[in-house]
Amino acid sequence: MEEREIRKEVTEVGRQLLKDGLVARTWGNVSARLDSQHFLITPSGLDYMQTKDEDLALYNPADKTWTGPHKPSSEKGIHAAAYDIFPEVNFVIHTHQSYASAIGLAGFDSLDISDEESKLLGGIALAEYGLPGTSKLKNAVTSAFKTGAHTVFMKHHGLVVTGADRQEAYKRAMLLEDICKRNCKAQGTENVLDDNTANKKDVILDEVRAKYPLADWVETQATISWSANNDKLFAQLDDMAQMIGKEIITVEPDPAEISVRFAQGYNALFVKGMGAIVYGMDEDDTEALGILVDKAAVSALQTKAYKVGGRLGWFDCKLMRFVYQQKYSKQKNG
Ligand SMILES: [Zn+2]
Repeated sequence: MEEREIRKEVTEVGRQLLKDGLVARTWGNVSARLDSQHFLITPSGLDYMQTKDEDLALYNPADKTWTGPHKPSSEKGIHAAAYDIFPEVNFVIHTHQSYASAIGLAGFDSLDISDEESKLLGGIALAEYGLPGTSKLKNAVTSAFKTGAHTVFMKHHGLVVTGADRQEAYKRAMLLEDICKRNCKAQGTENVLDDNTANKKDVILDEVRAKYPLADWVETQATISWSANNDKLFAQLDDMAQMIGKEIITVEPDPAEISVRFAQGYNALFVKGMGAIVYGMDEDDTEALGILVDKAAVSALQTKAYKVGGRLGWFDCKLMRFVYQQKYSKQKNG
């Protein structure tokens, strides 16, 4: 395949990941092997919808040099490890997919998976935690690859899926999410809100929006289940720690209290029995917050049911939130 076509495949997969909800915002990254010495990888912190074929970084892992208009993704070392360990792998996708992230936290020793599915995934393994972009994380994922697993759960973070080509890698990511969704059995029962509650939610949102026009409800099964029975959710996943912070508290269904909390700097709150309400800096931000709150609830319900701790360290949370805010304000300022 020509370089031009390979570039196109990488940027197309980036957009597909957003569409299929396997990542939010600029999280995750995609790469493809170009030749025996190089691979092409998505740039660090660039919006997938705006990433053009020529924006990709051409990376040489042997001497750690790159060319292109943007810095390569900070997780390039993980991609390099996959190409190094597996000669047959030509495509690597790193996702933050919800259900697989939850299973990565709660454990997959008793995963209900058929032999056929296991084979299609090319084997699975768990990589222990390391902060994003660190050699600790890269080494953990490398060790997981060395077990022969082509699909690796990155604890507290996401997934890395490899394949002989784009199709195989993408199919693995989607299949994994199906398997993990089926295995997330602790999501509560289907919550159908009665008319009274639904009306109340409309009233609350109208009042909150008077001050915070970009606020919106997150009305998934997991958020409703979690909000009904829990006062606080501690961050278990890196992207929540970065974008939301170390915890999400549950508040009463009271627009005044919600507005006060938003004014204090909270951007996501569970509202007792009703799900969650989020408030972003723009529409994309609000949407991404919704995805993260739902994923946080899915994971927390799962780890709670399996009596697994899963909480990120306080200091790591602080550090990630700080780094994210620095990076984000820089991006917003161009
Ligand atoms: Zn990531």
